[in-house]
Amino acid sequence: MQRLSREGGRRVCSAAMGNDDKRTKDIQERLLAWYAIEARDLPWRNTRDPYAILVSEIMLQQTRVETVLGYYDRFLGRFPTFDALAASSLDDVLKSWEGLGYYRRARNLRRAAQIVVDEHGGQLPLTVSKLRSLPGIGPYTAGAIASIAFNLDEPVLDGNVVRVLARLRRISGDPSRAATRKRLLREAQSLLPRSQASHFNQALMDLGARVCLPRSPRCHACPVVNECDAHYAGEEIAYPGKPARKRVPHIDVVAGIVWSTEPFAPGSRLLIAKRREADMLGGLWEFPGGRVEDGETLEQALARELREELSIDTDVLELLLQVKHAYTHFRMTMHAYHCRHIGGEPRAIECADWAWTTITDLDAYALSTADRKIVAALRKV
Ligand code: SF4
Repeated sequence: MQRLSREGGRRVCSAAMGNDDKRTKDIQERLLAWYAIEARDLPWRNTRDPYAILVSEIMLQQTRVETVLGYYDRFLGRFPTFDALAASSLDDVLKSWEGLGYYRRARNLRRAAQIVVDEHGGQLPLTVSKLRSLPGIGPYTAGAIASIAFNLDEPVLDGNVVRVLARLRRISGDPSRAATRKRLLREAQSLLPRSQASHFNQALMDLGARVCLPRSPRCHACPVVNECDAHYAGEEIAYPGKPARKRVPHIDVVAGIVWSTEPFAPGSRLLIAKRREADMLGGLWEFPGGRVEDGETLEQALARELREELSIDTDVLELLLQVKHAYTHFRMTMHAYHCRHIGGEPRAIECADWAWTTITDLDAYALSTADRKIVAALRKV
């Protein structure tokens, strides 16, 4: 009752003021005042260096802040400038990115640094359209860099901002659909206070991350509660609309832990392969193998894959472990088998490179999360 009567008052008050501008101004002032006190202390907020802000924004794509905190300073220590990143080897960059996932981001970031150095004199371009021409920079990242690094009047729409805006104005519909997105973008644009985009956009992001939570919004702690249409209607959770659920396919994959002689025998080495750059997880090293085809046993699939990928013959021995892993568009179960190399000098046929190594020396190679689980299992034996 208390909530309704207070908000009833707000509605009357807004009506009396007679315009949306008053509401907009109110939201701007309340959010900026809240952000001045409540802003999260994040390392990329203590710099105006566009390169460092770019690195943070690329790392934050599809990755939680808490995870990025474990990588950001180390990456900048290793590659402190566009020049340093542009001159680096892809192997070094992937090794620094190891475990962060979505490795295409690391390849694109390095390529973007090379373009910035070669074509823009080492400075990030100052317009959204030029930022978007760089690899790995889509509309969201371009808007975030333009507003956060350069304080340009550019709106941003990430998952947190979408949730806040959809609730504030009761914007229904699936936000991944163009029409809904357009409405949300219009809303973000109309709320943006001139020359304060850097703080305002980050305030919206923080509000979504810490207060306007997906399942249990903390409306009692929200600085814009009196301007929130979804809260007024008691329908916070109904916004934003949910995208139609798609069935995520599952595949079985086999991986060979190929020993030069017997598993774990003194002097026996392990064969690893490097993925081709254009492939998924390109540039990473792995225990070779591939997808199981219809009608094959796991052992048959592995022997075939090792022949096709590296031109070697193997005896497939016992299973070491199974790893389940979810990617954006599919889930997989990887079955990792010990194998004995019995013939054929390895050749890089369906991979970029190969190497004989040892369990200890595997640390020198950038491996995917699934392959690092195999290494951990080998070290436990
Ligand atoms: Fe989100 Fe609640 Fe604030 Fe509305 S009042 S923006 S639903 S936290």
